[in-house]
Amino acid sequence: HSKDSGRNSFRFFNPAINRHMLDHISLISGMRKALQEQQFSLYYQPKIDLRTNQICGLEALLRWHHHEQGFISPSIFIPLAESSGLIIQLGEWVIQEACRQAKHWYDTGLLQFSIAINISSIQFKRGNIEQLVLGSLDASGLPPQYLELELTESLLIDDSDRLVNTLSHLRSEGVHLSIDDFGTGYSNLGYLKKFEVEALKIDQSFVRKMDDQSNDAAIVRAIIQMANSLGLKTIAEGVEDASTAALLRSLGCTQAQGYYWARPMPAEEIEIFCELWGKNTTESL
Ligand code: C2E
Ligand code: MG
Ligand code: MG
Ligand code: MG
Repeated sequence: HSKDSGRNSFRFFNPAINRHMLDHISLISGMRKALQEQQFSLYYQPKIDLRTNQICGLEALLRWHHHEQGFISPSIFIPLAESSGLIIQLGEWVIQEACRQAKHWYDTGLLQFSIAINISSIQFKRGNIEQLVLGSLDASGLPPQYLELELTESLLIDDSDRLVNTLSHLRSEGVHLSIDDFGTGYSNLGYLKKFEVEALKIDQSFVRKMDDQSNDAAIVRAIIQMANSLGLKTIAEGVEDASTAALLRSLGCTQAQGYYWARPMPAEEIEIFCELWGKNTTESL
């Protein structure tokens, strides 16, 4: 009896931690079920060319619509998917679904740019990304130059031959590479020379505070200057107002994304958005 009560009392030993763990466990098993029951979907957010005001890309962002809990944020479930290993299956689904959708838009003529997908470092290191990406392109029939991979600095500090070879092979096939959340990772920038990345996505934590008197505008300016001198494009994330867009344009930033132009939206909505955007910008020229 004392053994039992000892066991039970564990549940109440530290309610905060215990509650947390139970939430995590149920979310992880929920994710497994969600994969089978197709509760995941991709939303798409446009990238805007700051010089021409045209849509110059789309980023695919994973959404989980839980039956009872509604939408669960990727910033909650992606880390759990990583720690549980489910990121491998989830990541496979993302690549395959993005390629399938992109091929459809390629066929209908909407795709004048590439579709970017996010690849987490853990997914990259544990899964066979090269085979997965090339296999998904092959299966869907999407030409590789319409696919872009957003990688993180934490992946690129690893300078193993395997990583260098994988990325250079994908690049030689035509797949585009960019670095997401740039500026939040490591300060050793030597890796920028080693990998054939084409763009730096400036993290929204810098972009969103550019307007006030902080150092963030100086950081953004420095990133843009460095990128320009290395021949890299810059994509500012998290632009929410006209003044930030104007400031970025004046600093020579090439592209941007943010609620100022559009939130991420489902495939059917982004189709309409792209069509209307094309019409409006042509008419206003
Ligand atoms: P991220 O790749 O840096 O994506 C940008 C995030 O900023 C997205 O959040 C997007 O919805 C949000 N965002 C865009 N514009 C604005 C804005 O103007 N203001 C604000 N406040 N936010 C904006 P989301 O969709 O919740 O995704 C969060 C993160 O989860 C992503 O950050 C990415 O790291 C990860 N993630 C999303 N989808 C995937 C996926 O398919 N695979 C992997 N491995 N990670 C993913
Ligand atoms: Mg991203
Ligand atoms: Mg980012
Ligand atoms: Mg992020």
